[in-house]
Formats: sequence, C-alpha cells, structure tokens
Amino acid sequence: PVLKQPNAAKPAVLAEVAHVVAVASGKGGVGKSTTAVNLALGLRANGLKVGILDADIHGPSIPTLLALHGQPRMGKDRRLLPMQSNGISAMSMGMMVDAETAMVWRGPMVMSAITQMLAEVNWGALDVLIVDMPPGTGDAQLAIAQGTKLAGAVIVSTPQDLALIDARRGIAMFKKVDVPILGLIENMAHFTCNDCGKQHALFGTGGAEAEAKRLNVPFLGAVPLTMDLRAASDSGQPIVVRDPEGPLGKLYVEMAGAL
Ligand code: ADP
Repeated sequence: PVLKQPNAAKPAVLAEVAHVVAVASGKGGVGKSTTAVNLALGLRANGLKVGILDADIHGPSIPTLLALHGQPRMGKDRRLLPMQSNGISAMSMGMMVDAETAMVWRGPMVMSAITQMLAEVNWGALDVLIVDMPPGTGDAQLAIAQGTKLAGAVIVSTPQDLALIDARRGIAMFKKVDVPILGLIENMAHFTCNDCGKQHALFGTGGAEAEAKRLNVPFLGAVPLTMDLRAASDSGQPIVVRDPEGPLGKLYVEMAGAL
C-alpha cells in the first residue's frame, strides 16, 4: 500500500502531512463526496491520523456529511484550525466562500484558493489528507493535481457508460501529471429492493471492474445504492460511523485499508 510508505515528493507547505490523496470523479453526482468522507473515516479506523479538505467549491458537501456548523477558528499563529468531526480534521471551501461567488471562479482562482486551504490551515501532523476534488477534468482539476504533489488519486464512478467515459478522462488526467491511480471505486453499483429482496442493476453491471482491468488500475470495490447510505449521509453521521460493523461500514474500512 502506497500510504504506508514515506513520501519524498510531498509539498513543502504541508511539512507535517505525509500523504495527500485526491478523491475525484469525471462528473458530479456520482457519490464522490460520500466516498471521500467514508474513506477518510475508514482510514482513521485503520489507525491513521486523517484530514479532509473539501475542494469542491461548486458544491461543497463535507459540512453536511460531517455535521459541521459555523466557521473554523484562527490559531495563535494566525493560521486557521480545521474543524473536528468523528476524530478527523476537516476544512471546506463552503466555510470560506459563498456559493454564488464560487460558481463563476475560473481554474487559477480555484487553484489559489485551494493552495491557501493547504498552506494557511494548521493541519497538524497527519498521515493522510484527503482532498475531495471538484468534479470534472478541467483547468482547476489539472492545476490541483499538479500543484498539490498528490501521493495518488481514487476515482469514483457509477457503472453507467457515460460516467465511465468521464472516469476514463479523470484517470488520463492524473496519469498525464504522473499522479498514481490508487484505485477505482464503483458507486451505486446495484439496488437491493426492500420489498422483494432482489438486486437490481439500475445503471448496468460489471462495467467499472472490467474498465479498471483494461486500464490497469486497481479495482477497490463496488458500493451498492442503498437507503441506509443516503440516510446516513444526510444525517451527518456517515455509514462508517453509524454502522461500522455493517456490510457498508466494513467495505469502506477495507477499501481504505487497501490504499
Ligand atoms: P458527488 O460528490 O459526486 O456530487 P455526493 O457524494 O454528494 O456526490 O452524492 C450525491 C447524492 O447521492 C447524495 O445525496 C448522496 O447521499 C447520494 N449517494 C451517494 N452514493 C450513494 C449510494 N451508494 N447509495 C445511496 N445514495 C448515495
């Protein structure tokens, strides 16, 4: 696993952070933030010190997912202190900028805001800082990938062909800037009906695993579409915290352990 090894290439601004890992998707709405939060908590369950930076300025959802309210405090060294939730440190662009302004930001502005979130936040000593990336593969994403010296990236995709095409683009983007792909996670893989108990593959099946094989990237796992996961996310108590011994909780902890 990459995260268990020292990282010689980490950025100087983050002297105390061993690894920065991006969680990315080719398009929005595929469950990237849900995955980022549960992986972060899964890494913590694996005994690591973890932070999460919500860099999805166009739709910051980490505050909701982690039930964070208010604004971060300023420390004695005039750097912001990340907020704490369930044993992990968290910062969100949503705490810093209003959504209307963020909508019209261009790539370089996004990059400089994110650099600030890295350099001007006192993250303290962390084993892993997860960056919940903005969706897509435009200038902003490329700038973040280049500027943050990522240890690796995790790509989230639904089984749908369209999402996979976007995921493929995401993988190509990280490869272009020599960021290793730590794995592909298939989200909303199938739906188990509460009434009939049958599994329904709403968005098709098996596509992501086959694609991972074809692209020679690790396949980390398939997460089903479930009411429990959605309800847990909305309640501000992610499934890894709410039900660590359940199948989904265990799955995230296992996928995090493989990073
Ligand atoms: P993204 O970050 O890719 O935009 P989110 O993580 O915000 O996506 O997820 C979008 C919506 O889908 C949220 O309401 C979330 O709770 C829900 N969701 C994500 N993954 C699942 C899943 N596996 N099962 C059920 N709901 C999910």
